[in-house]
Formats: sequence, C-alpha cells, structure tokens
Amino acid sequence: MENSQLMLRGLIEVYENDFMHGYEGERKEELRLVFLELIVAVTRYANNYRYCSNPECLCSPESHIRNMISRNRSDIYNELLGGYLGLSEVPVFKIRDFLKGFEGELASEQ
Ligand SMILES: [Zn+2]
Repeated sequence: MENSQLMLRGLIEVYENDFMHGYEGERKEELRLVFLELIVAVTRYANNYRYCSNPECLCSPESHIRNMISRNRSDIYNELLGGYLGLSEVPVFKIRDFLKGFEGELASEQ
C-alpha cells in the first residue's frame, strides 16, 4: 500500500474508533467536521483527485490539506491526532508526520 493510502486508512480508523467512540468533549461535533474535511482532503491527495494540474493552485489537494492544518493546527495535532499510538494499526505519530509534510513549503512527492 502506498504511504498516502496507508495514512488515509489510519486517519479513517482513528476517526471511527478513537474519535467517534472515545472522544468526549463539548466541541465534539465541531471537531468531527474538521476531521471529516481533513479526511476528504487526504482522500483527494491519496487518489490524485484534481481540478487542475498545478499542485500550488488553491484548488489542489496539497493546498487543501495545508489550509486545513493552518486553520485548525492545535485541534488536529492535539485533539484529533494527539497521543502516540491509537487503535489504528497506523501509529498516529506517523499520521502527524505525514501531515506536517504539507506545512510550509509544498509537499514533496511521496
Ligand atoms: Zn487549480
């Protein structure tokens, strides 16, 4: 499985298991929407769903992921993907590292 596909699988497993069945907080519904949009963005990236060929364009999956993180950085890294290991076979620290690759400059090729 390619790395981005593995990360997508991990994200969905953390969402369904750790978050939906384990997270208890007042902002759960707000955070759930952030998590879902992140899953959509990573799904686009992992499957190369694009509206144009320019990875720097605002419509690109890379931009989508980067913008998601810049708007929700603390929530994503501390609330949704906090901790070291989750219930997924994909360790959450690897998912965090994957997402951090999109911050700042453009993500390099997988
Ligand atoms: Zn575009």
